[in-house]
Amino acid sequence: MKRSLLHERNERHGGEHMIGASLTERVAVVTGASSGIGAATAQRLVEDGFRVHAVARRADRLSQIAAEIGCVTHVLDVTESAAVMALAEEVGNVDVLVNNAGLGRMDGTLAQGTLDDISRTIDTNVTALMVATMAFLPAMIHRGSGHVVNLGSMAGLYPLPSATYGASKAAVHRFCTNLRLELRGTGVRVTEICPGRVATEFYDVAVTDPQRRAQSKDSGIKEITAYELADTILYAVNVPAHININRIELQPTEQTYGGMSFDAAVTAEDDIA
Ligand code: NDP
Repeated sequence: MKRSLLHERNERHGGEHMIGASLTERVAVVTGASSGIGAATAQRLVEDGFRVHAVARRADRLSQIAAEIGCVTHVLDVTESAAVMALAEEVGNVDVLVNNAGLGRMDGTLAQGTLDDISRTIDTNVTALMVATMAFLPAMIHRGSGHVVNLGSMAGLYPLPSATYGASKAAVHRFCTNLRLELRGTGVRVTEICPGRVATEFYDVAVTDPQRRAQSKDSGIKEITAYELADTILYAVNVPAHININRIELQPTEQTYGGMSFDAAVTAEDDIA
């Protein structure tokens, strides 16, 4: 008896997850999809025809977004590696993984900070991103296609007065370049997105003191919107499969690199995202 293509594909990739999904439907996972860049990217991917799995901790925000855009939601903490591995098992084949979940802890300099600032930043921005990539990669390699999009930052490429956050994003930068080398010949693409200032809830999380938070949020310049950033991600995703967009750096026109400083009073209150 002739077996259906869907049946064969399910069997090849060992997943019941394909049942109910069309053969041509592309699948994306977006971490940190409950706000900002992640929420906008999830929406743009849905609008582009993807079946989107939106991941974050805040169930209420995810439900609201799912009701608005029509995506599948997964309430989980990306720093819980076992949960991320289980998610990959559950979702199965993924065409695009957007490792976007991230944060900054910017109440002060490294010397003024806490151990928790360091561990939360590294656990979320670096370790969780690597674990998620490791979780979803084998199926991509097996299939000979897939795309890992990682949210880095201008802070990972240029000096800014935020040692821990900058270090975490610098790790993302090197992870992307080395992963791309590891994956040569597999058909799997890797893209690093390095934004400057994007108008999101980033500083609501990064700065706890209300007055400093208000100052941090008021950059006084025309910032990139989350949707404009998401459109950039969609561009990288939708170029033909034989092209890999390695890295995209984008900043508001009015923002530029920190540059050299001879001022002893440079503090973490400077623009650091
Ligand atoms: P937001 O604070 O708006 O969004 C961060 C997202 O990450 C939220 O959806 C949050 O969801 C999620 N998240 C954080 N920690 C976890 C966790 N442990 N598990 C699951 N989800 C988590 O900020 P942005 O949209 O600005 O940030 C998105 C990415 O862009 C980050 O990696 C950030 O470093 C990067 N970036 C941002 C810039 C900016 O100017 N805004 C500039 C450069 C880079 P929840 O709390 O519900 O779990």
